[in-house]
Amino acid sequence: MARIVVVGSGIGGMASAALFARAGYRVTVLEANEDYIGGHGRCLRVGNMRFSMGPQYVWEFGDGETGGRFLEYLGIHDVCPFLPMEEDGFERLFVGDRKKGGNWYFIDFSVPMGLARFGESLKRMFPEEAEAIDFLFNDMIAVYDVYKAFFRKNAVNESRLLNTTRFLLTGKISSAMKVRLGRTIYMSVKELFDRHGISPVARRILYGHGGIFAESESDMSAVAYIVGTGNYHAGARYPQKGFHHFFSSLAGVIEEAGGSVHRGKRVIRLETGGGRVSRAVCTDGSSYTCDFLFSDLSPRLTYALIDDSEESFDYAPSHAVGACCIVIAGGLASVREMRGKNYWWQDGVEIEYRAPDVTRPPRMLFINSPTANGFGGEPETADDSLAVFFPGNYSQELAVHRQGPDAFFSFKTQLAKQIIDILDRNVFPGISGRIAFSEIVSAVDTEAQILAERAGAYGRRLSVDEILKGGIREKRRPENLHNVSAAANSPGVAAGIYTAKLLFADLTKKNF
Ligand SMILES: Cc1cc2nc3c(=O)[nH]c(=O)nc-3n(C[C@H](O)[C@H](O)[C@H](O)COP(=O)(O)OP(=O)(O)OC[C@H]3O[C@@H](n4cnc5c(N)ncnc54)[C@H](O)[C@@H]3O)c2cc1C
Repeated sequence: MARIVVVGSGIGGMASAALFARAGYRVTVLEANEDYIGGHGRCLRVGNMRFSMGPQYVWEFGDGETGGRFLEYLGIHDVCPFLPMEEDGFERLFVGDRKKGGNWYFIDFSVPMGLARFGESLKRMFPEEAEAIDFLFNDMIAVYDVYKAFFRKNAVNESRLLNTTRFLLTGKISSAMKVRLGRTIYMSVKELFDRHGISPVARRILYGHGGIFAESESDMSAVAYIVGTGNYHAGARYPQKGFHHFFSSLAGVIEEAGGSVHRGKRVIRLETGGGRVSRAVCTDGSSYTCDFLFSDLSPRLTYALIDDSEESFDYAPSHAVGACCIVIAGGLASVREMRGKNYWWQDGVEIEYRAPDVTRPPRMLFINSPTANGFGGEPETADDSLAVFFPGNYSQELAVHRQGPDAFFSFKTQLAKQIIDILDRNVFPGISGRIAFSEIVSAVDTEAQILAERAGAYGRRLSVDEILKGGIREKRRPENLHNVSAAANSPGVAAGIYTAKLLFADLTKKNF
């Protein structure tokens, strides 16, 4: 059977490696990180706690959906259960800052699952805006339904939104829908809200989960927002045993089939000849001959490994997102209430993701508790943990890092304190007196740990400009090189599996 070398153990790499290994191919995964697999989904171990540095929840993992069928196909459905998040409030949004001289309002809003239910709940909070909210949700649901119907029947995904939309515009849909679709591809989320007459406060709730895109409302593509929001409202889930268990289960599938997953193998060169990649060479001098090479690195980083590449790319890497890992001594009841829920806090004005000042207190936090979901710590621990994410600034953090270890340490200490103060004031009163441990994982750390382009969170930006560029074209692609990264395809765990599924069907003619 043919030999496949997979560079990188992110979701795109591991999902493809598991599928091909199970189909009998000789698969070798080469991961640069010495300690962790999973890429953005790596789970850092701090003391007796684990923190996923990326994914907190997934969609498309119900029975019969792509993720669910993927687990079935690999035979790990029962050992890797994905539980539904809380139907009546899978996201809880806190808007406003209770600091002295802060906003005049403070909102605590639980988002029910399902776009229609979300719209109804929003109308109860803003009855004077009922008409505008109906107008917006009717449009969002209509656009989402058309895309979903199209994605179900066709081999496309969100990275090809523009091409898809163009195709849909020529297809058999009503002219009213063509107008709606046509508009959304050129619109930002801000313009979408403007058009529908949504008030500034209701926007904070509608884009309360904006951190999952790492884009400001003014930049974020309306169509990508609608498809992304619709996807997770269609059924958000989390892995009962955590993302570290999910990734190790994939490694188990690969190894049981005779393949291998190596850590500490940084690929520094891809040797090519006759228009094909023949071998991957690592820093330690080892090399791996291949018939197919799957790259889980962004296109720019992949082509940098090919000696004579003249490829150039114009895509923009996603903005960075930093993390603060927190351990709470003896636990906290208000943290345990987070089971099956994500919390979001924002101060109440549009969040800046392009170049936020990370030396100032963050304006937005995305808050998760691995222990509340039952997989963050050793069973005997009474402590609780929080993984808190904030908008990062790669250039600024790099500049601080270059000032030396003391400057970098004091930047991190101050940031962790600012985050804990915000949590104490607005989300978990009393938490600041209970902190056993806190650690910032900055954009510089992320770059060092997984070598991501500018430490980008989602691969590629999801701005209007970026979506309008369409898919990334590789002009001189060696014929046996396939890119399975989020940057070349779409962000997210479900999308990584979808990318692997398309490649699997393409090369083996098998499907699941
Ligand atoms: C804060 C945050 C929250 C997120 N939340 C969610 C969520 O809730 N749900 C969801 O579905 N998605 C979420 N995502 C997105 C999701 O995590 C990513 O889209 C996805 O994990 C990217 O996978 P990838 O296949 O592109 O590989 P990556 O994760 O980018 O992995 C690439 C791997 O390649 C390795 N590598 C790099 N260079 C080399 C080399 N030269 N040699 C060998 N190995 C190399 C790296 O070490 C890394 O392990 C989140 C991301 C972030 C950052």
